Amino acid sequence: MRGLTADYQLTLPAILRRAESHFGYREIVTRLPDKSFHRYTYADMVRRTKKLAVALGGLGLEKSDRVATLAWNSYQHLEAYFGIPCSGVVLHTINPRLSPDDLAYIFDHAEDKILLIDETMLQLLDSFKDEVNLEHIFVISSDGSVPDSAPDGLESYEDLLESADESEFEYPDFDENDAAAMCYTSGTTGRPKGVTYSHRCICLHSMAAATPDMLGLRERDTVMPVVPMFHVNAWGLPFTAAMTGARQVMPGPHLDPESLLENLAQERVTVTAGVPTIFFGILRKLDEDPDAYDLSNLHDMIIGGSAAPESMIRAFKERHDLNVLHAWGMTETTPLGTVCNLTSEKEELSEDEKYQVRATQGVPGPFIEVRARGDEGFAAWDGESMGELEVRGPWVTGAYYKDEDPDKFTDDGWFKTGDIASISPGGYVEIQDRTKDLIKSGGEWISSVTLENDLMAHDAVAEAAVIAIPSEKWQERPLGVVVLEDGKDVTEEDLMSHLAEKHPKWSLPDAIEFVDEIPRTAAGKFLKRALREQFKDYTPTA
Ligand code: AMP
Repeated sequence: MRGLTADYQLTLPAILRRAESHFGYREIVTRLPDKSFHRYTYADMVRRTKKLAVALGGLGLEKSDRVATLAWNSYQHLEAYFGIPCSGVVLHTINPRLSPDDLAYIFDHAEDKILLIDETMLQLLDSFKDEVNLEHIFVISSDGSVPDSAPDGLESYEDLLESADESEFEYPDFDENDAAAMCYTSGTTGRPKGVTYSHRCICLHSMAAATPDMLGLRERDTVMPVVPMFHVNAWGLPFTAAMTGARQVMPGPHLDPESLLENLAQERVTVTAGVPTIFFGILRKLDEDPDAYDLSNLHDMIIGGSAAPESMIRAFKERHDLNVLHAWGMTETTPLGTVCNLTSEKEELSEDEKYQVRATQGVPGPFIEVRARGDEGFAAWDGESMGELEVRGPWVTGAYYKDEDPDKFTDDGWFKTGDIASISPGGYVEIQDRTKDLIKSGGEWISSVTLENDLMAHDAVAEAAVIAIPSEKWQERPLGVVVLEDGKDVTEEDLMSHLAEKHPKWSLPDAIEFVDEIPRTAAGKFLKRALREQFKDYTPTA
C-alpha cells in the first residue's frame, strides 16, 4: 500500500509564500557600501522578489537557464536568491575572489545568460567580460543607477524591477527535483566543479538546519550570515531564515571586525556564522576592548569552512562568554553535514573534555550518513581509526554538473569528501586533514590540522599552517608556518616545546618559519598549495 499523503512538492516558492503569509513584519537590514543601514521587511522583500521573477520572465530565458550573481550579502542578493529560482531559472552564485581565469571558465562552463553584479565589484568585469557570453548585465547599486565608470551596455537592477508588475506573479508549480541554484567549488586543485542544488535539497536542508541540534533557528532569532552569499548559499542561512521568519542582518561589503561587531551589538544579532579567519579578527578586537560591544543577545557563533581551533572556542567562552557552534560542510553538501552541539551523554565530562568535543566537527544532521574508508575497510567508530570521510543524504550531491570527476562518487552512491576523519562512538566526526594535506613521514601519517590547532593555542600565535616538505629520508616532513600576534614574540624552540607537550617527537615539525601572512583561497581558507610551492626547496637551517 502506498501512503496517501498529498504529493506536495518541496520548492522555494513555498518558502517565499510562507515568508509572505506569516512574516511580512520581520525586518531585513543591510549595511550599504557607504556604511549606512538599509531597512525593509519581508513584505517588501517578497514584493520586489516577485517583480524580479516577472522581469526575468520577460527576458526570453528558457527553463533552467542560469542567472549569475556576483554580489555581497545584501537585500538585493536575497531577492535574487528567491526571484531567480521562482522564475524557473537557476541562481548561480559566483565567488568574486576567484582568479579572472577561473571566473571566465565558470561563466563559460555554466553558460550563464544574465549577470547581476554589485557596483563594488564592477572592476572585476574588465578581467573576464570579453571572454564570456552574457545577454544582460544588471548593476545592483545603492542609488539604483549604473555608475558612470561602468563599461557601456550595463543596465540598472532597479530599472529591471521597475519594468515589472508584481501582480503578474503567480506562484509556480515546479518539480521539486528541478535545479534551483548552483555553485562552483573553490577547489584548491584543478578546475572548479559545478554543484547544482534542487528545490527539494534546499528545502530539506533548511528544515534540518532549523532543528535544535543543528543550528536551531527560530522566528525570534536575528541572523547575520557573515559567510558570503556567493559561497554555498551562505550555508543556507538566507533560506532557513526566510522559512523560519528569522530577522536577517546582511553585512554588505564590510567584513572587518569592527563593522561586524557594530552590527552584532547594534542589531542585537542572536546567531552569526563565518569561517575561522573572520572570528580570529573578532576575537582579537574583543580582547583589545572587552567592554566596547554589548553582545549579550548573541547565543551562537557558527564557525566552519575550516577547523575552529579548540583554543578559539575556549577563548570566546572563557574571556567573552560567547558560544561557538562548530560545523562542517562542503559545497557538495549544500553545505551542512555535521554540527557540534553536545549530546546529553557528554554532560558527565569535565570542562576540558567538553572543549575537546566542541572542537570536533560534531554529529551528522538528520538524514546525513557518514562513514570513513580506511586502507582496510571502513574505520571503526572508536575516535582513533581514520579514513576518507564519505557522506550521503538528501542534500549531498549525486554528481557534478556535466558529470565531471565521476570518481568522487562510490558505486553505492556515497560522495567521497577528500577529508580524512575519525569518528567517535555516537558519530562525532573529527576531521584530521584533507587527503592531500596529510603528511606521510616514514610510513606514518601526521595530521597537519592537529599541529596547526595546537600552534594556534599558543598566545603569541595568530595563525598557523602546517605543510609537508619533501624529505629524502622520510618522504615528507612537517613544516610549521606561523604568523605572530601583533606585538608578541616567541622563538621556534618555545613553540617546539609547546607542541612537544602533546605530540610525539617524530611528529613535530622539522622547523617553524615566521611569515607576515598565510595565502588564502577564494573562500578565506589557508591555501596550502601555495605554501607548499613557496617552501618546496626548503631545508631547515638548524
Ligand atoms: P568548501 O566546499 O569550499 O566549503 O570546502 C569544504 C571543505 O572545507 C571540507 O571538505 C573540509 O576540508 C573543509 N571544512 C569545512 N568545514 C570544516 C571544519 N569545521 N573543520 C575542518 N575542515 C572543514
